[in-house]
Amino acid sequence: MMMGTGEIVVIVSIIGTIVVSIAVSIGIAIFMRKMIANLNASIQFQPVAMPVAVPQGPPQIKRTACRNCGGFKVKPPKTACMYCDFCGAFVDWDFRIAVSTAGSARPAPALQQLMAQEKAFQAQARANNDVESFKQSVRRIYEQHTVQCAAAYSPRIGDPKYKHQLIEYLALVDSALGFDPESQQHEASVASLRRMLPRAPGHGHLDMNVFRQLVAAKKAATARAVQLLAPHIHLHPDEASAEIAAATINSTFTQYWLPFLDAGNRQWLIAEMGLAGEYVELSPVPLTERHCGSCGDAVHVPQGASRVVCEKCGHFNDVSAPEVQCPGCGGPTSVPSGATTFSCPYCQMDMRADGMRAL
Ligand SMILES: [Zn+2]
Ligand SMILES: [Zn+2]
Ligand SMILES: [Zn+2]
Repeated sequence: MMMGTGEIVVIVSIIGTIVVSIAVSIGIAIFMRKMIANLNASIQFQPVAMPVAVPQGPPQIKRTACRNCGGFKVKPPKTACMYCDFCGAFVDWDFRIAVSTAGSARPAPALQQLMAQEKAFQAQARANNDVESFKQSVRRIYEQHTVQCAAAYSPRIGDPKYKHQLIEYLALVDSALGFDPESQQHEASVASLRRMLPRAPGHGHLDMNVFRQLVAAKKAATARAVQLLAPHIHLHPDEASAEIAAATINSTFTQYWLPFLDAGNRQWLIAEMGLAGEYVELSPVPLTERHCGSCGDAVHVPQGASRVVCEKCGHFNDVSAPEVQCPGCGGPTSVPSGATTFSCPYCQMDMRADGMRAL
């Protein structure tokens, strides 16, 4: 990030030693495990003001080429999950947006209670070497978490198929980690170093020597997690890469610790965790307004785009052809990706992809 910049204040929800914050759908398995592990030690919820240096002046955008089509982002993403503006592929994780979006959601008491029960259940499953029961427990937690903390996920979580595939992926990854002795060892050293540091920002002195050891331990844990999730990454509904998975895990950790640190150490941590990224000035390109075929929300697309994700409802739209007009209400709409028939997002009339009434 650039130096000599203004500061904004971001409210971060803190519960216990975890931050439930925006969008970590890939690394969230690891994050949830930590959440469960720390549940007993949870303290009263308190919002914390976190100053984060954000450059002033012209808006900037993270420069990452799409692995699928080579395109660069031309529109600022609404969430930290960056989807290609041209083909809709999952491109990258934008840490700046993750920390500056007040979309945090903390678990409701009912969810906390569920997690406490599942913690005991998972310990039992581990003792019995029962991977299937462990996975069932993971699924139960995410079924609740994706509902109560939807803001912590990609906008695609609104698509039931996406959600199902994500939960299956998380069940696999979470159990791979839960039954891996090396992972457990890394987590234990992270936890023991964590105990030597203040429980909340401003609550006692933070020893930077210990903190640097914690960062090193966390990086080792992430490296092991990435080794274990790599064989499953193709099952992730965003077809993410192992590098992006590492970035999302590190992002959760970094977001949590930023409020504890002074400005210099914040910059150090962001760079150390590989989250600095290359940001370039956003140069506006002409955009055409279209309408999501699932929810009707406006979707702005650049020339040459073939498929885009609606950042409101998370469904993909085919934007390679002009919009069609609903034969019922006359409303303009794009066609949901891959659909031959669909319901008008405004009046629910069934129509075909060519705009004719479906019989
Ligand atoms: Zn692309
Ligand atoms: Zn939509
Ligand atoms: Zn209609």
